This record gives sequence, structure tokens and C-alpha cells, in this order.
Amino acid sequence: MKRAAKPAAKVAVKVSKLTPAPQVQYRLCRAGWAVIVETIPNAQGTRFVCPFCTVSHRVSGPVRGFKRVRRAQWIKMRRVEG
Ligand SMILES: [Zn+2]
Repeated sequence: MKRAAKPAAKVAVKVSKLTPAPQVQYRLCRAGWAVIVETIPNAQGTRFVCPFCTVSHRVSGPVRGFKRVRRAQWIKMRRVEG
């Protein structure tokens, strides 16, 4: 009689429901400053009041903050609309 093969240990893959939403950064009108935007599928877009020009800009999702970035990085980013 064949010995029953030991079942392979199941690797529990925990899928967290609290996965942080992916974020994207857009460059602001002031050199070296970026806005951190959460990317939400099917988002209609949000407007936020810019701390530098006091005009509202449009981005693709909720704003999570502002960040200083190096100029070289900043140039590569997409600009906010509006
Ligand atoms: Zn601005």
C-alpha cells in the first residue's frame, strides 16, 4: 500500500482589503512642488485650491498632500489641469 503523500503546506496569501490606493504625482505651477493624488478608477476628477496661485486646479482624484521634489523629477511629471 502506497503511503499517502503529505499534502503540501498551503501558502496562505493574505489579500488585504486595506491596500492603499495607488498614488500619482502631478507637478504644480510652482517649480519643485508636486501634488500627491490618489488614483481611483472611474474618478470624475476633483478640484483643489492651489496653495501657490490660489486658483483651483483639476486632478484625477482626491488630493493626499503636497510634496517638494527635485527639479529633474518634477519636469518629468504631468502638469495639473486648469
Ligand atoms: Zn497653481
